[in-house]
Amino acid sequence: MKNRKRVLVTGGAGFLGSHLCERLLAAGNDVLCVDNFFTGSRDNVLRLLSDPHFELMRHDVTFPLYVEVDEIYNLACPASPIHYQHDPVQTTKTSVHGAINMLGLAKRVGARILQASTSEVYGDPAVHPQPEDYWGNVNPVGPRACYDEGKRCAETLFFDYHRQHALSIKVIRIFNTYGPRMHPNDGRVVSNFIIQAMKGEPITVYGDGQQTRSFCYVDDLIEGFLRFMDTPAAITGPLNLGNPGEFTMLELAETVIRLTGSTSRIEHHPLPQDDPKQRRPDITKARALLDWEPTVPLEEGLDRTIAYFRNRFFT
Ligand code: NAD
Ligand code: UDP
Ligand code: UDP
Repeated sequence: MKNRKRVLVTGGAGFLGSHLCERLLAAGNDVLCVDNFFTGSRDNVLRLLSDPHFELMRHDVTFPLYVEVDEIYNLACPASPIHYQHDPVQTTKTSVHGAINMLGLAKRVGARILQASTSEVYGDPAVHPQPEDYWGNVNPVGPRACYDEGKRCAETLFFDYHRQHALSIKVIRIFNTYGPRMHPNDGRVVSNFIIQAMKGEPITVYGDGQQTRSFCYVDDLIEGFLRFMDTPAAITGPLNLGNPGEFTMLELAETVIRLTGSTSRIEHHPLPQDDPKQRRPDITKARALLDWEPTVPLEEGLDRTIAYFRNRFFT
């Protein structure tokens, strides 16, 4: 019988973390989910609580954590502008102190550790699409900096622990991901548009709606996480994971209106400061290293996400 691995998922009660916990359990691991419930909730992992191989711990990663595990997925961090700008100092602390604590833990127990970094490390990119060797264009003192620079510093820490302490690290740069269990009030574009369309309220397109994003369905992303964690130790990343399909926000709004059969109209609102104009991952490396690419087309993923929001909030 295979030895069960003990896997720690920080931020495991959040959107991506809850899907990851589910997949790790299904693959026969013991999962320790650590979360301070800032944006995550017990609800997201409710179904897992009865599984004897699942444990949920309320803990803030800015404080040290002493547990015995074989692998760590470090996802703890608010991810949407509304949430990470709510308490920017805490956001930087979560990224930086959280990374130090989890790296210290990994070093002590000899665990392999994966960091959920972000396409935001590229800022408002001057290179398009973004390959991993592009260094980015980030405003270090703007309202998004607590997140962008916090995540950049976390990457620095991961690579220094790797070089200085020979830690086995995996750094993923996640591009916009959506799906069931997205936070309904976090202001992200997919959840905003779906909820507005279902309520028949105006769809709030910021700016002229010509800015682009590339949206990856959550199941595709989590598959990439698992494949990357299992690569040989010499492979560290950073590795882009995301869906290279690129859409303007206006196209997204029109698609959501069509798929929900909504009567909502489009309303333009001011563009937030430092909002990136375009974003699309270059996933050449992920294709080669992991034999991975997204399989769920936008409309199918949106249909599944719409069904989730409908069941949860509109029935
Ligand atoms: P989320 O807000 O649903 O999940 C983050 C989780 O971290 C929540 O459960 C929250 O309660 C927890 N958390 C926050 N601060 C914490 C702290 N100090 N200690 C312990 N737990 C804490 O967001 P998500 O979309 O699931 O994002 C997960 C990770 O993936 C984040 O690190 C985020 O930066 C990264 N990411 C997500 C996306 C995306 O499109 N969803 C894109 C790029 C990167
Ligand atoms: N740490 C932790 N759990 C552990 C080991 C370390 O949370 O099991 C934290 C601890 O707060 C420490 C940090 O990780 O300060 C960095 O650890 P490291 O060993 O790199 O440095 P230290 O500060 O202990 O010299
Ligand atoms: N956006 C929008 N309407 C909304 C929410 C967001 O037009 O109700 C835009 C936002 O300005 C950005 C894009 O959608 O250009 C993606 O925003 P999100 O906050 O989801 O992700 P991020 O900006 O972090 O990529």
